[in-house]
Amino acid sequence: MPQPLLEDAAARAARYLDGLGERRVAPLPAALARLAEWDAPLPDGPTDPAVVLRLLDEIGSPATMAMAGPRFFGFVIGAALPVTVAANCLAGAWDQNTGLHAVTPATAELERISLRWLLDVLGLPPECGGGFVTGATVANFTALAAARHALLARAGWDVEAQGLFGAPPITVVVGEEAHPTLVKSLGLLGLGRSRVVTVPVDAQGRMRADALPPLSGPAIVCIQAGSVNTGACDPAEAIVPWAKRAGAWVHVDGAFGLWAAAAPVLRHLTAGVRDADSWATDAHKWLNVPYDCGLAFVRDAEALRGAMAIRAAYLPTGAPRDPSDYTPELSRRARGVEVWAALRALGRSGIADLVERTCRHAQRFAARLAAGGYEVLNDVVLNQVLVSFGEPELTERVIAAIQQDGTCWCGGTVWQGRTAMRISVCSWATTDADVERSLEAMLRLARREAAVRGAGARGTSTSGA
Ligand SMILES: *Cc1c(COP(=O)(O)O)cnc(C)c1O
Repeated sequence: MPQPLLEDAAARAARYLDGLGERRVAPLPAALARLAEWDAPLPDGPTDPAVVLRLLDEIGSPATMAMAGPRFFGFVIGAALPVTVAANCLAGAWDQNTGLHAVTPATAELERISLRWLLDVLGLPPECGGGFVTGATVANFTALAAARHALLARAGWDVEAQGLFGAPPITVVVGEEAHPTLVKSLGLLGLGRSRVVTVPVDAQGRMRADALPPLSGPAIVCIQAGSVNTGACDPAEAIVPWAKRAGAWVHVDGAFGLWAAAAPVLRHLTAGVRDADSWATDAHKWLNVPYDCGLAFVRDAEALRGAMAIRAAYLPTGAPRDPSDYTPELSRRARGVEVWAALRALGRSGIADLVERTCRHAQRFAARLAAGGYEVLNDVVLNQVLVSFGEPELTERVIAAIQQDGTCWCGGTVWQGRTAMRISVCSWATTDADVERSLEAMLRLARREAAVRGAGARGTSTSGA
């Protein structure tokens, strides 16, 4: 009965993916205008599912941003590997509510195995507990909840039972360039977005190890592996031992940067990160699995269970790992399916190659833009490139022109007071040819915008430029 519908969906999905290499990245205004066709009153009765699917594809597909394609360099996000899209399709059919091992054994096992493989490939302690969550935001939240649990338990306080009112205070240290979602997680946990101690950073956005505050009492030190602007990692080798000496808990926001540890030539960037207490990362960024998939790892698995399990952590739970003991959610999709599929398909060398290849593409972008006379604002150590095309307004115009042109897509940022375009290479699909094609567009549009401006400054007409 459902076969023709699913075959139709698979055919449409395949056609969509096959078209991504050639179509423009940002949708055209005409495609966006058609979205209004969805906006009818709620139908009084049923619609044929085949018609529903056709409405989704015909109106929706052209109006998407081609994030799954090879030339989307916005934010720091990947493109789902075909094997993970296929796995996701199967997992959707399975429809497993992956909270309890006894009820959904297959998907619970995939999570358990994926967790072991992830710890292996990321070079993290094998004893870690882990949770499969929506993204790095919730992974930070989850890991920091474990930190809060453990630190307050040490101080004789049961935070899950008693809450934070009257609890011993926890000092929280973050870098000036901490990701806004890390700070948001601290707020959600009652640790405060603003009551943090902020450590100044260097020119690459790394916490300055020579500017760390004195620590006493319960403390959480949050470091970052991979700045969304520069790709730089905080100096874990200096910070982690200092924090440990003070009895602090060290948490690493490694949403994408943690994956440097999976690549032999880049692993040195994450030196010292392994000695932390907890880590947050994303699988939907550099591992290139579908949204949404974040991962929280905690060295003391019991602290994570203590914060997240509904049953008290000291009750025996039996041998199998219940996924919901490690996450804020009870009901949820089986995120381990696509993670397992990606890891199984890529293997250790495939993951290393994906990470190294995208970093080489970033190097290529930086070298060619610099050779074109444009200023690269960061040391390109990972997959992030910040480039200025001159004055802030010119850089903003070039970014807008690139987005409108459609060959590729990059976003803007302000880095230490400088307006910049950010190129983030995370997609498995990006080839050397895609980099060349994108560079051609960037350089062409940067020259054009500068010429338009020059002409404008001389009072000449800019029409037709
Ligand atoms: C992307 C990112 C986040 C947020 O991750 P989500 O998956 O969007 O929740 C947090 N920290 C860093 C460093 C990131 O790059």
